[in-house]
Amino acid sequence: MSELSQASPSEPSQDPASPGESSEDAPIGVAIIGGGPAGLSAGLQLVRANRRIAILDSNRPRHSATLRSHGFLTRDGASPLELRRLGREEFEAYPTAQFAQAMTREVTPLSHEAAVAAGFPDGIGFRVRGSGIRGAADVEFVARRVLIAAGLTEELPALPMIRAYYGTALHSCVECDGFEKTSKPLALIGETSDLFARALLISRFSSDLIVFTNGAETIRPEQEAQLAAIGIRVERRPIDDIVGEKAEMLGVRLADGEVIPRVGGFVRPRWHAPVEFMGELPLERDDWGLVVTDDRGETTVRGVYAVGDIVPPGPQQLIIAAGNGARVAAKLNMDMIRGALGVGLVDE
Ligand SMILES: Cc1cc2nc3c(=O)[nH]c(=O)nc-3n(C[C@H](O)[C@H](O)[C@H](O)COP(=O)(O)OP(=O)(O)OC[C@H]3O[C@@H](n4cnc5c(N)ncnc54)[C@H](O)[C@@H]3O)c2cc1C
Repeated sequence: MSELSQASPSEPSQDPASPGESSEDAPIGVAIIGGGPAGLSAGLQLVRANRRIAILDSNRPRHSATLRSHGFLTRDGASPLELRRLGREEFEAYPTAQFAQAMTREVTPLSHEAAVAAGFPDGIGFRVRGSGIRGAADVEFVARRVLIAAGLTEELPALPMIRAYYGTALHSCVECDGFEKTSKPLALIGETSDLFARALLISRFSSDLIVFTNGAETIRPEQEAQLAAIGIRVERRPIDDIVGEKAEMLGVRLADGEVIPRVGGFVRPRWHAPVEFMGELPLERDDWGLVVTDDRGETTVRGVYAVGDIVPPGPQQLIIAAGNGARVAAKLNMDMIRGALGVGLVDE
């Protein structure tokens, strides 16, 4: 059935299959890559717009290192896994929702003719392939649009024991976990140029803060003087490791053997956008490697959108990822309506 033939008052869906049809092979409206708060929130909005939606999720959320997530209104302190479970249940309650436990391997554009033949009236479409994980089957979808909500992978400073304290004593999101560290002796560990700004942010929670640059020249002398003026010291010597007893962090050991007592703090990972599945498609990235979009959420590949931590300014919070997921879903829906009618892209 063609997409335009669906656009009658009795059938509000503009996807090429009716809501309620359950054929797994039927073309879909949007393939969403990533089932975190950004992808799930977008998915919920789009199934509620009578779209046939598939979420492919590899189940590796960045915040799986932590036991409690903070600051999500009505769910402050909830476990991140519980949040995802609730989100998935709400999405899957709709008949046009499909959730695949799969790692997306490949996104390839359809030719104009193939897209039209699939029932996509604006001639834009994609084939999305994923490998099943945890025993799930491999999947393949033909979709009008793609939404990348794959979050970020992170690389912590190369210290042998740092993972043991990450998500408990050491965190990366100051807004998420600063409150619990109020007035404690803290470390900020990182090697990137935004360390100064992060130190200022952490100073809201504790003035007993030492910034460890691990030998990197990332804080300028005038910034060091500004930090010193509010009691924050910069430690430039290389770090050997984090030390502690069981789950309790006790300090930062420098390469020269000195241990500086600290009970926790923040680390600045290096973030990577996992978009290998886009292959050679011309996906613009910024200097940090994040996926660039216009203000509607569309990337430099027509028909491919992105949202959540993977887009600038980078990692924020669950509620922001979810909110932006809903915002971009509305733009995607309008893009498909306008594409079906040939009335241009931009809202008037
Ligand atoms: C340790 C830690 C603690 C945090 N604590 C808080 C907190 O307390 N409060 C708060 O508000 N925020 C917190 N955050 C930040 C929050 O987790 C993120 O801002 C939020 O999860 C971003 O949502 P997202 O949907 O963009 O990405 P994610 O939640 O990372 O979800 C992305 C999903 O995409 C999947 N994926 C990736 N690649 C593929 C692929 N190729 N195919 C299929 N699926 C793929 C991943 O497996 C993952 O499930 C924390 C982050 C960390 C690291």
